[in-house]
Amino acid sequence: MANILCVLYDDPVDGYPSSYARDDIPKIESYYDGQTAPTPEAIDFTPGELLGSVSGELGLRKFLEDRGHKLIVTSDKDGPDSVFERELPDAEVVISQPFWPAYLTAERIAKAPNLKLALTAGIGSDHVDLQAAIDHGITVTEVTYSNSISVSEHVVMVILTLVRSYLPAHQWVLDGGWNIADCVSRSYDLEGMQVGTVAAGRIGSAVLRRLKPFEVGLHYTDKHRLPTEVEEELGVTYHPDVESLVRVCDVVTINAPLHPETEHLFDDELISKMKRGAYIVNTARGKICDRDAIARACESGQLAGYAGDVWFPQPAPKDHPWRTMPHQGMTPHNSGSSLSAQARYAAGTREILECWFDGRPIREEYLIVDGGQLAGAGAHSYSAGDATGGSEEAARFGAR
Ligand code: NDP
Repeated sequence: MANILCVLYDDPVDGYPSSYARDDIPKIESYYDGQTAPTPEAIDFTPGELLGSVSGELGLRKFLEDRGHKLIVTSDKDGPDSVFERELPDAEVVISQPFWPAYLTAERIAKAPNLKLALTAGIGSDHVDLQAAIDHGITVTEVTYSNSISVSEHVVMVILTLVRSYLPAHQWVLDGGWNIADCVSRSYDLEGMQVGTVAAGRIGSAVLRRLKPFEVGLHYTDKHRLPTEVEEELGVTYHPDVESLVRVCDVVTINAPLHPETEHLFDDELISKMKRGAYIVNTARGKICDRDAIARACESGQLAGYAGDVWFPQPAPKDHPWRTMPHQGMTPHNSGSSLSAQARYAAGTREILECWFDGRPIREEYLIVDGGQLAGAGAHSYSAGDATGGSEEAARFGAR
């Protein structure tokens, strides 16, 4: 019998839904590169239900309890008195989502002698101190590709939202106005602009594919260059480094994982090399940007706008400057947690757990750390190290 400690975000303020806006969701069998969507032996939920919040339990309770395991689900994740810290010493498996991350710092890992598997129900395992996981022989996995397309759709949406200045115009309607000049005085067409992605992995390349029909100039930088035929098909220009990319772009979208190489990549110096009035869309991780440098650039006009859904830490303290800086289109971390995405990452979580408890190999593409080293997708996209520093500040969100 194993203890599985699962950290999920809170239910809706009005309670767990009893009905939904739509009756079904499309069934996605495989992704653009041919990788199949998750293939668990069975699922105990209806796709389209809210699974990512505490009462949704990722649809795991029946499966785990039928096998004699104990499932603990909580949203109380920060601070020494949290349910998470109390239950951690007995946990063999920790399941967490990037939206509401249970930070697994080296200190917490030291208090978790039974921990063998850290499972990200989603993509991005930077909330785990990967170096500490390597040192303690903990396997780290994530459900690669499960919500990459969800995020790419959000990226396209917020690029248009910023460039066309949608949110202030909508606000005029809510306020009972008809102020066309106010609405359009910061509104541009995306057509003809230069748009670049930092990283052209699953999300970055999906953004490029989706933006191609908008008749923009496309650019990317990445650790590994795309095949020539892909570059030609997309008509995308490769840049050997991020500085060369940002110098020419009107819009920059960040789609790299957070690891020591990318932490605070967008600081005052890099932002100063961007065109005045450029836009940044960051749905990758908040810490890839320097918090105060972004706020300063939005205030000064060096950036015409900033949007995304990722912050550091999460939840962001109520006084986080990105909540109130001008010309921003921030949301809480929700882009990869649409009901459509939840069905996939819940099924992927189940697939990984079935493999884990049956002693079968976990798909290579789901592995980040295994056998004391970076493995699978982790070996390709991450560098070993720790990006959790400062995460204890997340406790300030709930503090009175
Ligand atoms: P992928 O692994 O497919 O892509 C990541 C890409 O980043 C790879 O091409 C990788 O390069 C590249 N990369 C890594 N380090 C660098 C670097 N230093 N400079 C430039 N490129 C780099 O992942 P996804 O596209 O699916 O997801 C990317 C990230 O987006 C996740 O790690 C996560 O942090 C975030 N995300 C956010 C979500 C949300 O809800 N907001 C949901 C899902 C993901 P290569 O592999 O060629 O070495």
